[in-house]
Amino acid sequence: MFVGVGASRVRDLFEQGKKHAPCIIFIDEIDAVGRHRGSGLGGGHDEREQTLNQLLVEMDGFESSEGVIIIAATNRPDVLDPAILRPGRFDRRIIVPRPDLNGRQGILAVHTRRVPLGDDVQLDIIARGTPGFSGADLENLVNEAALLAARQDKDLVSMADFEMAKDKVMMGSERRSMVISEHERKTTAYHEAGHTLVAWMLPNHDPIHKVTIIPRGPALGLTMALPEEDRQSYSAEWVRDRIAMALGGRLAEEVVFGQLTTGAADDFKKATQLARSMVTEWGMSTSLGPLSYVEKEESGFLGQSYHKDYSEQTAKEIDDEVRRIINTQYDRAKTVIEEHREKLDSIAEALLERETLGREEIEAIMSGKDLPPPVIVSVPTYAEKRRENEEKRKGAIFQPRPREVPSAG
Ligand code: ZN
Repeated sequence: MFVGVGASRVRDLFEQGKKHAPCIIFIDEIDAVGRHRGSGLGGGHDEREQTLNQLLVEMDGFESSEGVIIIAATNRPDVLDPAILRPGRFDRRIIVPRPDLNGRQGILAVHTRRVPLGDDVQLDIIARGTPGFSGADLENLVNEAALLAARQDKDLVSMADFEMAKDKVMMGSERRSMVISEHERKTTAYHEAGHTLVAWMLPNHDPIHKVTIIPRGPALGLTMALPEEDRQSYSAEWVRDRIAMALGGRLAEEVVFGQLTTGAADDFKKATQLARSMVTEWGMSTSLGPLSYVEKEESGFLGQSYHKDYSEQTAKEIDDEVRRIINTQYDRAKTVIEEHREKLDSIAEALLERETLGREEIEAIMSGKDLPPPVIVSVPTYAEKRRENEEKRKGAIFQPRPREVPSAG
């Protein structure tokens, strides 16, 4: 890289901007050049600093009457150089959060514009079932749904395709080809049943959307809870229930098989993180009070370093408090599982039979009713589909005409 190229490009950019006024100059990922200067030994990155300096100089020489508007985007506003945020430069900050219900519906409408949709597709229902999805997630969801429909030789994308695509985007793709022993399958079924039962029985937990023992991504099984509406903040009761639910998986294994497996490592990580945040960030611990005990990032002479504003004594108290929270929730989850052992068996049996349970099915088990007919139809994998097509071709006298597939847009 030649030093000075970035700076001369910035100069050029602004010259062109002035020539084409009125116009908007948009700089994406501004943190790539606008990162905090002068941290680390040796004066940082010369090329980047020169580019940033040039940007600052150009923006200073800008009059508001020139008709050029500069917009920049970043995911890391925290690492930007303070100089870039001064009045006269980027002085207005607009935070773009994840889209809310209306936003998601609008984004879905944009991405489904060129996708042939079935009559049953209701974008508002999809939007309601995808809280926390970003614009990119929603685009991915539409693409996946179109691919699933194409794989089944359908001309239109139906609501069922969206439902399956949602699971794929949220939980990772299914790995049906994975070989799992019968015992492991049973352990996984009880593990997931444990999560489901604890979440169901505790008052403040989000409803269970789906539970499956088909391996997805790195996990052997998954229990997926989904809030009923967009949430911006969570209560202490919700966090406690969430910790108990995370511990429910291992507890079920322990109660039923009396054995410990490595499958719960992720659950413990999640539970510990939540408990630690309760104590150090959210002020939810009575003994440590409403204080922030977060380690601070500091840029000093030797570059970035972390330091804590509290004593070793407090650090130990935090550890003790985290352990106390986890142990309390562990006992709570254990009580639930021991008290409702027969429900745990029912969920695990249903899981072993159907592999995936939706919300209605879990509701039926919990209220002691008969299971509704399975709603989830499995989509053939690429390998299965290819085999099927080959079989068809062998039997056919004429070669089948290739069908047009709906494009994903
Ligand atoms: Zn688990």
